[in-house]
Amino acid sequence: MENSPQLIIIGAGPAGLTAAIYAGRAGFTPLIMEKLVPGGQIVLSDKIENFPGFSQQISTRDLMAEMQKQAEAVGMQLVQEEAIGIEKKVISTASGKVYRASAVIIASGTRPRSLGIKGEKKFLGRGVSYCATCDAPFFKNETVAVIGGGNTAVEETLYLTRFARKVYLIHRRRMLRAERILQKRALSHPKIDLILKSVISEIYGEESVEGIRLLNKETGETTQLNCKGVFMFVGLEPNTQFLPGQLKLNRQGFIKTGQNLETNIPGIFACGDVRENLLKQVVVACGEGALAGFMAGKYLDKLGGQEYLDTRHPTQL
Ligand code: NAP
Repeated sequence: MENSPQLIIIGAGPAGLTAAIYAGRAGFTPLIMEKLVPGGQIVLSDKIENFPGFSQQISTRDLMAEMQKQAEAVGMQLVQEEAIGIEKKVISTASGKVYRASAVIIASGTRPRSLGIKGEKKFLGRGVSYCATCDAPFFKNETVAVIGGGNTAVEETLYLTRFARKVYLIHRRRMLRAERILQKRALSHPKIDLILKSVISEIYGEESVEGIRLLNKETGETTQLNCKGVFMFVGLEPNTQFLPGQLKLNRQGFIKTGQNLETNIPGIFACGDVRENLLKQVVVACGEGALAGFMAGKYLDKLGGQEYLDTRHPTQL
């Protein structure tokens, strides 16, 4: 057993880091596991403009670096480890280590969904991308296509216009799903062309992407579109593959919890995008992280027989 901290948090995105801040402030020394670098999925976007308290767009990297600093200041320890299994709050990692905790918070977030169409795997890194912030500069003055109609697709389409000559935004329905404010910006942008009611059926090329085939869902017509890049933003998949089989998930694989973010396994809590919730936003992830950190602290206090926080609502006192 490498380590025996009381509280282990899996995932150092907004939810996990906020959970660490709250648990740290409550007197615990949470250990946070992150398989890559702290920050979470949000750092794949360049800026954030809907985090309360900041009326101007702010850099996602700056925001997350501040969260990390704040968590470290109250005792959070960060380890670069990938959790690959949990059994009775004993966590095994890809490096072969084993960590034992008394309480666990799962804040492992999501990853971009792939469509599994012809050419998607073959051209990954050679024209196919799931991150505009990472790859947009490779497409200076080129034509690119974005697949999806949600907030991510529209935000990343707007970002791509800084580099690309033309961006086609391709969505399967007749209406975008993204927030109205983002839709308006995209629709009025001279570099963006919207293609609706269409799905991508193939990505083709020789060494790298040369174009895509589209199917119009209404007319059944198939067309080709020449482009050098294809950015896929068709939703998110939860990072839950390492969780014990008895942990309750919903049909899409997101973790089910009670209102205090407790899972069906005592001492295991979940928060942020990996949890079954309606709104995947940094502010929601932070709110859930705060509650999960607080509740995990309460759980540990009970285990240690010292409940020094009275969390009853004033009306119950
Ligand atoms: P999303 O909201 O689930 O949107 C996925 C998009 O992909 C939808 O338009 C969906 O079409 C389309 N799609 C799904 N499967 C498809 C398929 N097989 N073929 C073609 N199109 C397909 O995912 P997201 O945009 O990644 O956002 C995830 C969450 O993060 C959301 O809650 C979002 O609000 C949040 N987010 C927020 C912000 C922000 O606040 N600025 C930024 C990014 C993400 P349909 O519309 O037809 O279902």
